Amino acid sequence: MFGRAPKKSDNSKYYDVLGVSKNASQDDLKKAYRKAAIKNHPDKGGDPEKFKEISQAYEVLSDPEKREIYDQYGEDALKEGMGGGGGGHDPFDIFSSFFGGGSPFGKLVMSLCGGGSSRGRRQRRGEDVVHPLKVSLEDLYSGTTKKLSLSRNVICSKCNGKGSKSGASMKCTGCQGSGMKVSIRHLGPSMIQQMQHPCNECKGTGESISDRDRCTQCKGEKVVQQKKVLDVVVDKGMQNGQKITFAGEADEAPDTVTGDIVFVLQQKEHPKFKRKGDDLFVEHTLSLTEALCGYQFVLTHLDGRHLLIKSNPGEVIKPDQFKSISDEGMPMYQRGFMKGNLYVHFSVEFPDSLTLDQVKALEAVLPPKPAQQMTPMELDECEETTLHDVNIEEEMRRKQAQAQQEAYDEDEDMHGGAQRVQCAQQ
Ligand SMILES: [Zn+2]
Ligand SMILES: [Zn+2]
Repeated sequence: MFGRAPKKSDNSKYYDVLGVSKNASQDDLKKAYRKAAIKNHPDKGGDPEKFKEISQAYEVLSDPEKREIYDQYGEDALKEGMGGGGGGHDPFDIFSSFFGGGSPFGKLVMSLCGGGSSRGRRQRRGEDVVHPLKVSLEDLYSGTTKKLSLSRNVICSKCNGKGSKSGASMKCTGCQGSGMKVSIRHLGPSMIQQMQHPCNECKGTGESISDRDRCTQCKGEKVVQQKKVLDVVVDKGMQNGQKITFAGEADEAPDTVTGDIVFVLQQKEHPKFKRKGDDLFVEHTLSLTEALCGYQFVLTHLDGRHLLIKSNPGEVIKPDQFKSISDEGMPMYQRGFMKGNLYVHFSVEFPDSLTLDQVKALEAVLPPKPAQQMTPMELDECEETTLHDVNIEEEMRRKQAQAQQEAYDEDEDMHGGAQRVQCAQQ
């Protein structure tokens, strides 16, 4: 094999067979193969030679190493590289490994297997188990470890997941070992619909175990329940919705890559603090006197520290004003020494009314009112008004509801008699 440079030969045939371009991605290849293989499967009346070609093309192109050789030197180089054997894998093998084994056809089989697992072609991947995990804002601020007890299926240790004492199993008689059953529905005189569904007798496994040979520990189920305690470490600064994954800790099943247990953090509402990213927000209400003459209060932080918050001498706080305190927000995830800001949002509570004496006293110290622009003569010509107290939000809501009701009524009228329409238009 050495010293004999492979001669340049045709290196586009495989791409043509699958109907893809030379820079097709693995995903494109999969899709193309799936389409072509189904269309040309001999069981469906396809040409066996063509089917073989398709499988061969896919087998080579889906393997990055072989694909590179093929791209550079063509088909012959691969044959040489394989020891002249011609690279002959059973095309049906490739087909069934792609579609998850069992019997070849049916829409259901395809949808069950999706695009084929990326982690291994023959092994099924078990499902991930997702649990919500409620945490307090304090937990996310300081970090914590939660012990959680879960029960999961594990492969039976007595039978190693065979389900039988002897390790043997028989083909399920219900499905002849395919794990699938086909039912036929007559849709019309010359139309039938074939439906595939997992065999109910063997739960889709395709095998059965005789009563006498059944494993006593798992009763032939192949798996047993096991309690497991997981230490879920919630790190400082983790976010609501963040996932903590225990790889391969989900339910075990024979011939299956075990899925993950995934905890999704759900932050509980905090009565005092709101979080936005790495920042914290806190509401604080001041009396009018505090807003004008100064305030001081203690804020207990999420880790129990007491922060003294106070105004500068002579400083006035206006309603809806914010103040920020640096580095008192949330710790940043995986950079716990860095923190966001803490924002204080102030509301100011005004008194509902004042006595005349209070008004006089205030006028004496507050800046003067703006000078009156009009003469008494001009004022005489103005009309008097009456101001009512109003809850503007409630009032607007009421008006909107009213407008909706009217629109609804009008709609009703439109669909009612012509006479009523006329009335509404008046
Ligand atoms: Zn067992
Ligand atoms: Zn069966």
